[in-house]
Amino acid sequence: MNIQKLQHRFKERCGVVAIASKSKASNYIYYSLRALQHRGQEAAGISVFNKKIESHKGIGLVANIFDDEKLKSMKGRNGIGHTYYSIKLSKPENAQPTIIKTEAGEVALAHNGILINAEKLRKRLKRKGHEFELGCEEEVVGYLLIDHLNSSGDLINALKRTLNEIEGSYSFTMMFNNRIFGIRDPLGIKPLCLGKFADGYIIASESVALDVIGAKMIRDVAPGEVVEITSKDYKSHQLFNLKHRAHCFFEYTYFARGDSIIDERCVYEIRKRVGWRLAKEHPAHADIIIPVPDSGRAHAFGFSLGSGIPLAEGLMKNRYIARTFIMPSQKLREITVREKVNPIKCEVEDKRVVLVDDSIVRGTTMKRIVDMVREAGASEVHVRIGTPPLISPCYLGIDMTTRDQFIAHDRTVEEIREILNADSLGYISIEGLVEALQFSKDDLCLGCVTEKYPMDIPPEKHRFQHTLKEYRY
Ligand code: SF4
Repeated sequence: MNIQKLQHRFKERCGVVAIASKSKASNYIYYSLRALQHRGQEAAGISVFNKKIESHKGIGLVANIFDDEKLKSMKGRNGIGHTYYSIKLSKPENAQPTIIKTEAGEVALAHNGILINAEKLRKRLKRKGHEFELGCEEEVVGYLLIDHLNSSGDLINALKRTLNEIEGSYSFTMMFNNRIFGIRDPLGIKPLCLGKFADGYIIASESVALDVIGAKMIRDVAPGEVVEITSKDYKSHQLFNLKHRAHCFFEYTYFARGDSIIDERCVYEIRKRVGWRLAKEHPAHADIIIPVPDSGRAHAFGFSLGSGIPLAEGLMKNRYIARTFIMPSQKLREITVREKVNPIKCEVEDKRVVLVDDSIVRGTTMKRIVDMVREAGASEVHVRIGTPPLISPCYLGIDMTTRDQFIAHDRTVEEIREILNADSLGYISIEGLVEALQFSKDDLCLGCVTEKYPMDIPPEKHRFQHTLKEYRY
């Protein structure tokens, strides 16, 4: 398996939604997708069932793709939706949901995650005569499902067989004709939750997508569980029961919205605990704590509580910069950082400052912020980070693909401090992070900070004695 090739093709972290409702689903899906917009801004799509599956997809933000007229024209009561994150969407048609139409039925799939054996499965399916139009991994899952359905005749059975074959991270919402499902991978790497609202049931990546339509959270979809929803009820099929889970810690420290509840934990509370712990592990003699907006806010609040040092705004974010384009030169990249955040001079002047952020990847943004805060008159600038040093790629759904992109990959903390031009630098320890998350270490994916992954990803080391294959029925 060529992981580099896979990584190049499938860089994504996304948001998924499914609705089964007594009234039109498209509006509910639309608002839920908007609540998940932080999970992907590249493209979005909605598919509903109205005698057949009807879809509308586009490039850009959810609000720019759908208008009143479009939502009104989508009449089905059941449907699924997707927000797509990618460095560069290879084809607009690859926006999800992915639709596969066959004689056995129509399948719509929305996926958050990465399948590490998609290429292998695609080759096998090609040999069997399937023609792939889109080149995405959801097409592979769709054809596998159809093949198994043709041989077994039962959808749940076909799903079992399909999930038995795919490896990687996945939270799917799926529509098979008018039947709606939420599917979470056996290790629970990606989040997925179930809720109920006045008109029916919802499944979504994060609880904020439930909140926005007034749905109450019932529970998380369990790792290895398939949940089918209708407007009146839901049904669970627990297909895998692995000894360990492998929740992605990065969901808690960075990706998910702070107001989400994931696997019974409040994301904001966890970030605060990380900050509190960071203050104990790496105290600083300082006058003010400044969060790097917005990602470092909760961590900084926790650091302030843990250290007794007051929290100050310090950096102002321009909220109207929707996204940053990849800039061709260092000079332009610097302008981009300054366009996004700017120091509040009167807050930082002559102060010893602690800058708190959730994580450092390349370090270029943090270096620029340290320089800006110094230029604004801070007497000392200390940096504290709520994720242990990122040293290793993510193969399971996050856009961190090569070791050389991480400033921490081949440097000591002291070397990084020098590059950042900070007076001191402290990262939360792995133990501190695990304690703040309140999971057992064996139930987390920590691959990008430990280089040990929760499944067999050659040539990387895997963490458990067992690979997923050994858990198959
Ligand atoms: S490697 Fe890191 S970012 Fe990727 S799933 Fe694991 S914890 Fe999350």
